[in-house]
Amino acid sequence: MVRPSSDSAADAVANLPDHVPLMARLGEVLESPGGPRDNVAVISLNVDRFKVINHRFGLEAGDQLLVEVAQLISRCLRQEDTVARGSDIVSRIGADEFTIALSGVSSPEDALCVIARIRGALATPFRVDGEEVSITACYGIALHGVGDRPQQLLQNSSIALSRAKERGPDSHHLFEAGVDASEKHRLRLEHELREAAARGQFELHWQPIVSLADGAIARLEALLRWNHPELGRLSPVEFILVAEESGLILSIGRWVLGEACRQAQRWQANPSVRGPIRIAVNVSERELQHPSYHESVQEILRETGLEADSLELEITEGMLMRPAVDLRRLKSLGVSLSIDDFGTGNLSFTHLARLPVSTVKIDGSVVAGLGEDPRASTIVRAMLATAASYELETIAEAVETTRQLDLLRELGCTYGQGYLFAKPLLSGEAGSMLERP
Ligand code: C2E
Ligand code: MG
Ligand code: MG
Repeated sequence: MVRPSSDSAADAVANLPDHVPLMARLGEVLESPGGPRDNVAVISLNVDRFKVINHRFGLEAGDQLLVEVAQLISRCLRQEDTVARGSDIVSRIGADEFTIALSGVSSPEDALCVIARIRGALATPFRVDGEEVSITACYGIALHGVGDRPQQLLQNSSIALSRAKERGPDSHHLFEAGVDASEKHRLRLEHELREAAARGQFELHWQPIVSLADGAIARLEALLRWNHPELGRLSPVEFILVAEESGLILSIGRWVLGEACRQAQRWQANPSVRGPIRIAVNVSERELQHPSYHESVQEILRETGLEADSLELEITEGMLMRPAVDLRRLKSLGVSLSIDDFGTGNLSFTHLARLPVSTVKIDGSVVAGLGEDPRASTIVRAMLATAASYELETIAEAVETTRQLDLLRELGCTYGQGYLFAKPLLSGEAGSMLERP
């Protein structure tokens, strides 16, 4: 059986409240003077694979279908309940996403009952362009907790919805404060990260990489910091993953490279700074995989006027183990490439031999063992021998003690970076260091 299509369908969507009345309604129920009148639940609903329907039947038919879905959801809710309870409402918040506010919910089962009703109603195929189309949806549920604000409830149900979607079509997930809090933190970071560059919250710090023979600064690595208004100064380890997953890393990476090249140019132009400046900039996986990353580096070099041979791009060992990374193209710009965190992956010698890299950076975790664990010396010795046989320069990361320094010198490592020499510095401090003989 196929449901009859409705002529008054367009009216239904026109009558759906948008986000604002939904929030007002939630606020009203949650914050009434005598305390909350009732228990409230919010359900976020997303129609599964709606894009496929849109592609197949076109946007207009897709829209019409959503109108019918909206009507159907409304019919599964209590249109008019007792005054104390008020009415449940549904609002359309995204193309294929709806939010439902339920009042008078005393347990998760009440919300699950409503979902079961909607599921049942969706089970009858829709008719689109003369064809039968079956649809399902995913549901995220958030129950009102003590002190929750409307915005919080909506955020929780939206987190629960993403969890449900991870499980696949026709799934639901009930938000649990403890379990899903980390997801909440992630969403918050992602949201704030979007604005961080425009708000001038990013900053580059610079850590010298020095020659182990004479302590001269060979280059400076740019390390990103996010000055978060509440959380303080954040290291990339706290937000790079979120930036990668959300794709924001592409614009952040562009900012980092542009800023680093501009700063390097400023140092080059300073007559008190001796010698050519070389800088090292970290590249993320997503950037490296991007088809036009090469062009974007080229463009930044052109814009800032920095010579390509002043720039080294650091690529972690883990990224090099994935196929389809075209390093030769990047290298053809004239920049140099180094392997960051060397010793944390399983890069084979044959693979290493084929890579157009000029430097390896021995990971801090390996360096940390020097002087503590006899095996660490053996590993570092083997790494240095491999690097030497491919004529690669070697930098030891995270050098913290003179004992490590002595051993690294003994083993023949060329450069070092770490708190023993200098912490990551503000550009002003790094500049003064460059001016010193
Ligand atoms: P990395 O490239 O291996 O950078 C070295 C990290 O070790 C830095 O952490 C640095 O502050 C820290 N470090 C330096 N000396 C010492 C030491 O003596 N002891 C110890 N324990 N640590 C030391 P940071 O700045 O927190 O950066 C962490 C990672 O985040 C970097 O590791 C890099 O992979 C990534 N990262 C930093 N800036 C950027 C960036 O602009 N873009 C991208 N995609 N990644 C970045
Ligand atoms: Mg690095
Ligand atoms: Mg490293």
